[in-house]
Amino acid sequence: MVDVIIIGGGAAGLACGIEAVKRGKTCLILEQKEKLGKKLYATGNGKCNFANRNVELQWFHSVEENAEPLIADVIHEDICGEIEHFFYELGVPAVERQGYLYPRSEQAATVVRALVQAYIQRKGTIKCGERVEKLHWSEQKKEFTVQTDAGVYKSKKIVLATGGMSNSKLGSDGSGYGLAKQLGHGVTACLPALCGLQCKEKGWNRLQGVRARGTVQAWINHNLLAEEQGEIQFTQYGISGIVVFNLSRYASIGLQEGKKVEFVLDLLPEYSKEEFKNMLLDMQKFCPNRSVYEIVSGFLPDKLAAYLLERIGLQKEQLIRDCQEPTLKELIQTCKCLKVRIVDSNDFNQSQVTAGGVPLSEVNLNTMESKIQSGCYLTGELLDVDGSCGGYNLMWAWSTGRRAGQNL
Ligand SMILES: Cc1cc2nc3c(=O)[nH]c(=O)nc-3n(C[C@H](O)[C@H](O)[C@H](O)COP(=O)(O)OP(=O)(O)OC[C@H]3O[C@@H](n4cnc5c(N)ncnc54)[C@H](O)[C@@H]3O)c2cc1C
Repeated sequence: MVDVIIIGGGAAGLACGIEAVKRGKTCLILEQKEKLGKKLYATGNGKCNFANRNVELQWFHSVEENAEPLIADVIHEDICGEIEHFFYELGVPAVERQGYLYPRSEQAATVVRALVQAYIQRKGTIKCGERVEKLHWSEQKKEFTVQTDAGVYKSKKIVLATGGMSNSKLGSDGSGYGLAKQLGHGVTACLPALCGLQCKEKGWNRLQGVRARGTVQAWINHNLLAEEQGEIQFTQYGISGIVVFNLSRYASIGLQEGKKVEFVLDLLPEYSKEEFKNMLLDMQKFCPNRSVYEIVSGFLPDKLAAYLLERIGLQKEQLIRDCQEPTLKELIQTCKCLKVRIVDSNDFNQSQVTAGGVPLSEVNLNTMESKIQSGCYLTGELLDVDGSCGGYNLMWAWSTGRRAGQNL
């Protein structure tokens, strides 16, 4: 019998374990993978973007409505400093790049090693390669029974730190939702977020590999829900890149609700339509014998220019001087408001985070203890919070994990 069993040895589980053993608790982490922190090694392209100095609630989302005040209980203005200090004390100094924090070594392995060592040095115990399948609370004995595929363990308290269901080969496979349900918790719809989006536009596959800076708007049933600016990556199946990742949760939710999902791309955001038109009129004057393709590919990558002309039925060879007012108008509209109908999002295995989970309203966010099963604490991505790109998902995992560990 130990004081606490933590189910899941990822970001939240390790942060929780460290705080628990610091406070003298006997603690066992049960992890189904062969090693702890497997997903952490893959974060930030192997560099682990573990936090962000730009802390605003707008970067944290929830499928359930009106969750902002609940998220604010955890994500306060000093949270980034606290996380940075937590890692500094573990021997992991940070480096900042435009607000994004990484370990100075720029190696995710530094973070995992420091977390695991801090936990083990204070006598925390670990069992890897064991998948938790059943949970039972005995009111009479005041203890939890935790059954894995290899054994049975007992504890006074448990922590669910099982993550979501994105990228299951790195660990989290959604089994935590089933465990939460065994204890009486609800789980909202779960959807892939921070992922690429698929479209079925004719000729789109030829855009594979193109990258262009622009503004992307997410329209759901003709309502503008969100907008992001940055590099758009064109893929054979659709669109990707950080801007698209950040908007993908709106597409996933819209599609799941059977709504029309349309993304509108402004490929020349630095010019107004009027300014772009004036530039095209200048080109007609200065270089009338250049083709419209040559002119457009002066603004945009070649493949993209060719696609846009084809989309409005303009011959590449047509000279710019022969483009009449309606043609120019159509060209400007396509470059500045390219409509892309989204038909699907990439699946969980190609997503970085899961939107949805256990509702925050079922947890006391001051302690992370369940309001439904006392003695059970819920942390990290298992909860109904998904962050934007930039370190926000790990911030949520560290903060909720540590808070649980401090209050066990
Ligand atoms: C490729 C990729 C890159 C990312 N990059 C970043 C980034 O740079 N910055 C950022 O903030 N976020 C990033 N994220 C998101 C971030 O990694 C997660 O949000 C975060 O790891 C969630 O922490 P967690 O502890 O809740 O879950 P996880 O880290 O997923 O840990 C859950 C653990 O529980 C274990 N587990 C699950 N079920 C069971 C069970 N039944 N029995 C035993 N063990 C179980 C899993 O094996 C896993 O090890 C990235 C995600 C991916 C996939």
